Amino acid sequence: MTHRPRVATVWLGGCSGCHMSLLDMDERLLDLAQSIDIVYGPLMDVKEFPENVDIVLVEGAVANDEHQRQIQVIRARSAVLVAFGDCAVAGNVTALRNPLDGTAAVLRRAYLDPPVVSPAVPAEPGVLPALIDNVLTLRQCVKVDYYLPGCPPPADAIFHVLAELVAGRTVELRDRSRIG
Ligand code: SF4
Repeated sequence: MTHRPRVATVWLGGCSGCHMSLLDMDERLLDLAQSIDIVYGPLMDVKEFPENVDIVLVEGAVANDEHQRQIQVIRARSAVLVAFGDCAVAGNVTALRNPLDGTAAVLRRAYLDPPVVSPAVPAEPGVLPALIDNVLTLRQCVKVDYYLPGCPPPADAIFHVLAELVAGRTVELRDRSRIG
């Protein structure tokens, strides 16, 4: 690359544990910061995913209609997209609801079936993104360039992926991370 790589991270349908693992890179984050520009992420107050992103790590599966819109924009604006963690790679925890019979059954199970301790506050229509019936992996929505499995992926593996991509090399992840 002839410029400082523009790097983004995204949090879709996940628990943020993958981003916690990213922070576990500790002082290596400072080393990376010398050679990249971080242009978007859950730790930044940037509302719109920017144009011309070189590398994006996407945590989480696609679980609602907002995620479906976001992942298309992210893909269109990013050169290299990394499925970041097991939820992004394979659905994982986020997709545990898939065997239930669609969104209505999920909401019924979550909010009506257990004993009600306090009155439920109904969601205002149109305010919250609508859940989709089946949680999707990133690969079911867009082209994925690299898969970084793990729940969460180890910080060493995250650093390896970022360092290799920033150096313009093809990433080899064998033995560095695995599902689970
Ligand atoms: Fe959380 Fe694990 Fe999913 Fe990452 S892969 S978002 S740590 S459940």
